[in-house]
This record gives sequence, C-alpha cells and structure tokens, in this order.
Amino acid sequence: MAGSERALCVAIHDVAPATWPLCEKLIDAIGQVAPIPLTLLVVPAYHHRCQGEHHNACFAALRQQMAQGSELALHGYTHLDEGRRPDCSWAYFWRQIYTQGEGEFAGLDVGQARERLGWGLEWFARQGWPVDGFVAPAWLMSEGSWQALQEFPFRYTTSFSRIYLLQQRRSLFAPSLVYSARSGWGSAFSRSGNDAVARILRDAPLLRLGLHPRDANRPSTVLHCQRLLEKLLQRRQAMTKSAFASRWSAAPDDEYLSTKWWAAGKPV
Ligand SMILES: [Zn+2]
Repeated sequence: MAGSERALCVAIHDVAPATWPLCEKLIDAIGQVAPIPLTLLVVPAYHHRCQGEHHNACFAALRQQMAQGSELALHGYTHLDEGRRPDCSWAYFWRQIYTQGEGEFAGLDVGQARERLGWGLEWFARQGWPVDGFVAPAWLMSEGSWQALQEFPFRYTTSFSRIYLLQQRRSLFAPSLVYSARSGWGSAFSRSGNDAVARILRDAPLLRLGLHPRDANRPSTVLHCQRLLEKLLQRRQAMTKSAFASRWSAAPDDEYLSTKWWAAGKPV
C-alpha cells in the first residue's frame, strides 16, 4: 500500500452508564497492551435508561478518553428493536433470535429512523461532544434507515463486513472480529475464528476488532483479545474509525480497493 500503514480500529460497543463497569474493564485490558485510541459506540438511552448509578463515572471517563484521542460514535438510541414486526421467518430469525431483539434500526421506516438519528445528534450536541460516525446496533439497517442516514452529516457508518464513507458513497471490505458470548463452545470457536480471519486478511488495509461489554465477563476472551491485539499491532497502526475515514477520504482513488455504492437507494 502506498503511503500508509495498514490500520486497525478497535471499537467498544454499547457504551452507556448501565454497561460502564464492563466497558471500563475492557478499556483497562486494552490499555495493558498499548495506549491506543478507541472508537466508543455510545447509546444515549440504552434500554431506555438515560441515567444510572454509573452516570458520572461514565461521562467523566468518556471525556477523558476523548482527551486521549479516542472517538465517540452514535450507536443507536435505545439499542432495542421497536420497529414493525418482522414479516418473514428469516427476518424474524435475525431480528428476534440472532440479535436478541437489539437491532434497533433493523425494521424502522425512514421517518422513524430520521427521528432516532435526530435524537442521537441532539444528545451529542447537548453534551458538546463531536460525532462523526453512526453504527447501527447489531449492524442491522432497514432500507428506510439507510435513506434517513443520508440526510445527516455523518461521515461514515459500518456494517459487519464493510466501512462506508457516506459523503463519497464508497465502501471498503473491512470485516470486524468479534467474540461470541453464547456458550463456552461458541466462545472458543470465535476465538479460533478470529485468529484465522486475522491471518487470512493480514494484508487488508483495515481490520476491525469489536468488543461488547459481555466479553469482559469471560477472562479467556479478554486474554485472547489482548494476545490478538499484540499481534495485530505489530503490523498495523491503531486509529479511530473517524481517523481512518479521514485517511481514506484523502487517499487517491486507487489506493484502496473500494467500491462506489448506493444504487437505487441501497448500499451495494
Ligand atoms: Zn450494540
């Protein structure tokens, strides 16, 4: 790759006062490996809870994280799928069973998505915090949500396997490594799966590592994540998603194998 080192974006999902003790454990575990900038995916009213016992500690730590170079991104508003009922069994499987009803933007129409994105941006403005990115809970977005997203000044969004530059309408294959917390077996499988994906995609311009608060409850996952991070940092520069979006926007068209997207109102 000309002119730029391969990148690694580490994101912590579902950041909110209610999940803060677990998020903090993950941040500490990462800090033990290296003091890298993180992308913290914040949910303003996680499961309809705006405050909570850990509110002050959470907000103080978020301000400190930003001062140290981390980024906050909007990750839904309530993180609950409250849209219309899934209308086919496959959609039902994804929305209710696989994501356990947390895919907030999976079933919204354009008006509902617009409303929630607006609430999220207002919330960030009230805190006086900058926000560049939106990441849908469970990475699930209905057509209406994609449409509404274009009306707001976000610079990027991500799905499970891609990052999208919203203004330039480009997307790049950049899979996210995540850990399963469903069972001991599933968790072990995701650990070896992450090792394999990291090996196969060793030359990809961007790899993403996504951690969820529940991961902090499993010491073997935390340890694996620390070892994986050590390995990835030997070949990659850690940066926020926003920093990667800036680097990518400024690069010549042929530097990244990205594709033009958004045909007939849908990402491709
Ligand atoms: Zn989430």
